[in-house]
Order: sequence, then C-alpha cells, then structure tokens
Amino acid sequence: MNYPYGRCQNCGNRLYEHVDGGYRCPNCDTLYSRDALERVASV
Ligand SMILES: [Zn+2]
Repeated sequence: MNYPYGRCQNCGNRLYEHVDGGYRCPNCDTLYSRDALERVASV
C-alpha cells in the first residue's frame, strides 16, 4: 500500500512509495532514493 512520505524538492507535492524502492513524486515524476529522502526528512 502506497502512502505519502515527505515532500518533493522540486514542486512540494507529497511523495509516494515506489514499487522499485524509494519514492516518486506523482506531480513532476521525480524519483528519490530511500537514502536520499531519509537524509532530507531528518533536516
Ligand atoms: Zn514534484
């Protein structure tokens, strides 16, 4: 089940878990790795 996680650095939209791992912005179609996002979310 997908759920929102953090926000897109490009457009501010919510990110959703991607089947390949990591997260994807459905608005601008940007992919984020799990590691990169955890770093962003902790700041
Ligand atoms: Zn976006």
